[in-house]
Amino acid sequence: MKKIIMFVSAMAICFLTDTPSFAKQFVTIGTGGVTGVYYPTGGAISRMVNNKSSEYNIKATVESTGGSVYNINAVLSGDLDFGVAQSDRQYQAMMGEAEWADAGPQKDLRSVFSIHPESITLVASVKSGIKTPYDLKGKIVNIGNPGSGQIQNSLDVLSAFGMTIDDIKAEQVKAVEAPGLLQDEKIDAFFYTVGHPNSNIKEATAGRIKVDIIPIKGEGVDKLLDKYSYYATSIIPGNAYPTKATEGDVESIGVKATLVTSKKVKDDIVYAITKEVFDNFEEFKTLHPAYEILTKESMLKGLSAPIHKGSLKYYKEAGLVKYINPKLLK
Ligand code: GLU
Repeated sequence: MKKIIMFVSAMAICFLTDTPSFAKQFVTIGTGGVTGVYYPTGGAISRMVNNKSSEYNIKATVESTGGSVYNINAVLSGDLDFGVAQSDRQYQAMMGEAEWADAGPQKDLRSVFSIHPESITLVASVKSGIKTPYDLKGKIVNIGNPGSGQIQNSLDVLSAFGMTIDDIKAEQVKAVEAPGLLQDEKIDAFFYTVGHPNSNIKEATAGRIKVDIIPIKGEGVDKLLDKYSYYATSIIPGNAYPTKATEGDVESIGVKATLVTSKKVKDDIVYAITKEVFDNFEEFKTLHPAYEILTKESMLKGLSAPIHKGSLKYYKEAGLVKYINPKLLK
């Protein structure tokens, strides 16, 4: 009896003080390895919405994960509410390609917005003699862990230079481990599709042995750009990694990081996240140097999955729908 009275009075206090303790909604954003850009990106997005925690009753938290493919699958299964994923991976999931070839098109996947550009980054020790992707033949190369975005990009680059996975000694460890393995001379090179600057490539290029970033360009790469509309040319800024072996910017190709969710995630949650990032856009842009070049328009390009209804509600209110591919507005 005493317990019941205590419970009833606790409920009464909550209602009287308008404490939203019963209704708080916890949402999780899947990211990538802690030395990449997805992890701080999840932090930046969650910070924007958590600043208004009392208004929305939402508490967002961030999880370090295996990357894009893991995040898309976890969002679809309901294990995560949001995930950061490469634009090419978002496209493949929508079309039922690559890792989704057996499962088919992932119709419940939804776009929230695009974020920073990511470059396919090929990092090699000088000692390995790798100067172009052709030189990867026979070398020990980390192509990315299963579940990462970069694993398919690595295979695409190999194919652009007339190779397959069988032409290299492929490792499939997480990006976070690659700089250490390179510096310990356990691998010759690694691929990482990532925004710049990031602490992973800093770690790789600032160690005991000399390390360089290898350009990804040429005829085979031009063909890749023609074949896949999600790839675009990119520049890795040399000043982000002043201790790499060769000075200057590095040419490559890349994609975009995007935020995805599932059709099943509630509209009010997706609305709140979208609104807080866009309404506080200037503040958001200060949260990572990779966001410097972002515009509201650029954050609505490069998406393949339909826009989530919660985001769409905000884009309509804010007059941003004009920037969105009409095909995504169903
Ligand atoms: N693009 C990588 C992936 O999809 C992650 C990059 C990052 O964590 O910044 O796995």
